[in-house]
Amino acid sequence: MDGSGDKSATRAGRIGDFLRRERVEIGQGNVDRSTEYERHLPELRRRLARRTTFVVTCMDERCGGIEDRLELLHGEAIVMATYGGRIEPDDFDRLFGVKIRHSVQARRQTAIYLVAHRESGDPERGCAAFGSDPAEQVTAFSALLEDLRRRYPDAFTHFLSLDTATGLISPEKADQRDDHLVAVLSGRKNLTDSGTAAGGEGTVRRGIYVGDAYRSWILPNDRFMRLSALDPNLEADLKTAIRTVMEAEKGVPTDRPYVIQIDSPIYPDVKLSGNCRRNIEQAVNQAVADPEILAAIDDGRVGIIKTETEMGSQKGFAVG
Ligand SMILES: [Zn+2]
Repeated sequence: MDGSGDKSATRAGRIGDFLRRERVEIGQGNVDRSTEYERHLPELRRRLARRTTFVVTCMDERCGGIEDRLELLHGEAIVMATYGGRIEPDDFDRLFGVKIRHSVQARRQTAIYLVAHRESGDPERGCAAFGSDPAEQVTAFSALLEDLRRRYPDAFTHFLSLDTATGLISPEKADQRDDHLVAVLSGRKNLTDSGTAAGGEGTVRRGIYVGDAYRSWILPNDRFMRLSALDPNLEADLKTAIRTVMEAEKGVPTDRPYVIQIDSPIYPDVKLSGNCRRNIEQAVNQAVADPEILAAIDDGRVGIIKTETEMGSQKGFAVG
């Protein structure tokens, strides 16, 4: 007798149960984190009245704690996370140029942190987007830095590197006018324990987060890649992220799929929300049309959870 049909039905059931539990669990995490966000809202408003902060970084899960390392509050920075932290200067300007110029005109400090990552002691565990080649990475980040400094001479634009072995941030090319960064670098703390340390098996969630509210959903112990809603190359970057996950899962049958959390941000600016939603939907639709990726979803190696986050409160909702 052939029992394989029953067996796979049971497995599909277990995967479905896992995703249902996961939705409940991340929903509870979001309640906790949005409550925390509301508690520090007065301080956040004070900081935002004084400073505008942008962070460009890699989707690598080891960069997930970058805002903590830069001592930025939840919601303080606009984060653009892409594969390698790569972004064309024209795309960056199209997305953020108006906001940057407006911030400078309003005499707010304006800081742009370009953060590359490497791992001291293990050159193989550098940034995959640059084939773990630090020279190529430095060239790309330096070119982006120079371009953005020319466009926004009054903003403080920095090229920093994060050592994912120690959690330390080092200045590659820093603008000394930025007193926040100077303070961060002078009080450099080793944040490995809170940032990259993994908990025991069963407590570490693994996956990919797409959206602009990473810190409202992803806990410090989680191993989640991060892609921003407005990533100009979101389709290609998402496919790369999913393939990375599939490669890691090869030949290991599990009832605990990698989670892809697709989280549409709801901004007070309706047009911005629409742009985010369109960019995300297009990328996800293209990714799941890829036969290899579709097969991985069908056989339960990856599972999709859809949410929305109201950015003003950081409160989120599961939508599918
Ligand atoms: Zn990387």
